[in-house]
Amino acid sequence: MVEKVKTIKDVCCPFCGTLCDDLEVDVDLKTDQVVEVRNGCQIGTKKYFAANPSDHRYTKPLVRKDGELVEVSWGEAIEKAADILVDAQRPLLYGFSSTECEAQSRGVELAEMLNALLDNTASVCHGPSLLAIQDVGASLSTLGEIKNRADTIIFWGSNPVHAHPRHLSRYSDFIRGYFRTDGRNDRNIIVVDPRYTHTAQIADKYIKVNPNEDYELIQAIRAVLRGSDLDVKEVSGVSIEDIKELVETLKSCNFGVIFFGMGLTQSLAHHRNIDTAIRLVTELNDYTKFILIPMRGHYNVAGANQVFLWNTGYAYSIDFSRGFPRYNPGEFSSVDLLMRDEVDAALIVASDPGSNFPAASVKNLFKHPLIAIEPHKTPTSEFADVVLPAAIAGIECEGTAYRMDKVPLRLRKVKEAPGECLSDNEILERIIEKVREKLGE
Ligand code: SF4
Repeated sequence: MVEKVKTIKDVCCPFCGTLCDDLEVDVDLKTDQVVEVRNGCQIGTKKYFAANPSDHRYTKPLVRKDGELVEVSWGEAIEKAADILVDAQRPLLYGFSSTECEAQSRGVELAEMLNALLDNTASVCHGPSLLAIQDVGASLSTLGEIKNRADTIIFWGSNPVHAHPRHLSRYSDFIRGYFRTDGRNDRNIIVVDPRYTHTAQIADKYIKVNPNEDYELIQAIRAVLRGSDLDVKEVSGVSIEDIKELVETLKSCNFGVIFFGMGLTQSLAHHRNIDTAIRLVTELNDYTKFILIPMRGHYNVAGANQVFLWNTGYAYSIDFSRGFPRYNPGEFSSVDLLMRDEVDAALIVASDPGSNFPAASVKNLFKHPLIAIEPHKTPTSEFADVVLPAAIAGIECEGTAYRMDKVPLRLRKVKEAPGECLSDNEILERIIEKVREKLGE
C-alpha cells in the first residue's frame, strides 16, 4: 500500500511557554500540508494549520515602492533592509520570542554590529519578573518536579485554561505524578485573581483580590506568616480569616508552587509584586518546600532572555549605542523608546507590536523605516517597508527553544516552508553579511 501521509512524532509545539513535546503531526505527502495534529490543544493545533499556504502567508520578499508592497528578489530585499539599518542613527531590533535560539543569537550579533537597541517581548510581559529575580533571587524548579511532587498549586494573576491549556493536564493539576498518584485528587488548586476566570472555576479555592492590590495582599500574607496580628478586617478585599486560613494551608503542604502571570507582573506594583512574592516563597521554605515559576506566554521568550543574557549580560532592553551593552528597562525598553520617538528605524522579528503596543508608540514606529521578518500578514508587517518571509520555527525549520522553566527542548521540522521562505536564522545571517559589507568590516 502506498503511504499518503507521514507522521512525525514527539513534536514540540511552538505556541506557548508550556512547550508540549508530545504532539503527533500528520503531513500529506502529496501536498506537504498538515492534515492532522494529535495531542495539541486548540490554540497549538491551530498554529500548525495556519502554517499551510493561504492568503495570509508571505511566500516572497516584498519591498514598498510608490506606497505598495511589491515582490522582489531576496538580493534586493536584503540590500534594502541593510541600507535601512546602516543609515539609521538609532535602530531598534525587537521581537525574538516566537523564534528559535539560533536566530535570537544572530539578532544579538546584528544589534552589536549596528550599535542598535535590542529588546524582546519580555519588556511588555515578564520583564518585572526578571528584575525581581535579579534583585532577590528565586526558588525555582522544573515542571517535572511539580508534576511529581506538588500538592498545593497557586495560580496568581494567570489563567492557564485559556493561555496555557495543557499546563494543567501535563504538569500542574490533573496529571498523576510519582508522589501524586491520584492526580487531581492529590492537589489543592488555589486561584488568586480579580476575575472569576475559568481556571478559578475549577479551583478548590478562589481568592478575589482587588485590582492592583496584589502587593498589599502578599505583604499581609507575609505578616500573618510571621505571626503578626493585623488590626484590620480585610486587606485588598480579602478577609483576615481567609488570609489566616491560606497561610495555614501553605505552611502545612508538602510541596507548594506559585505560578504567576501578567496579572501580577503588569498590575500596579510591577516588579515589586514579584519581589515580595519571591520573599514570601523564601519565608515559606522555613516551613515546607515552596517555589515559584513565571507563566511565560510566547513559546521561546524564556529562550530570548537566556540567549540575550549569555551574549550581553542582560536579558532584555539593551542599548549598544556606546559600543558596549547597557541595560535599563524603562529607558531602553521598546515602548518607552517609541513613546519618546527616539527610534528612527526598526527590525521586527517574529512579533507584532502593531497590535499590542500602545497606539502612540505604534504611530511613531510606523513613521520610520520598518523591516518585518514574518511568516504571516500582521498589522505590523502591513506597514513595513521591507517584508522578509520566514519559515515558521518548530514547523518548517528546526531549532532550540526554552520552556517556561528554562529547560531547553529541540524544535522539529514537520514540513517544507512555502514559496521562497527562509528560516529567521538564515534571513538574519544574510542581513549580517550585507551589513558587514556596507560597514566595510
Ligand atoms: S499548551 Fe501551549 S505548548 Fe501545549 S499544545 Fe497548547 S499551545 Fe501548544
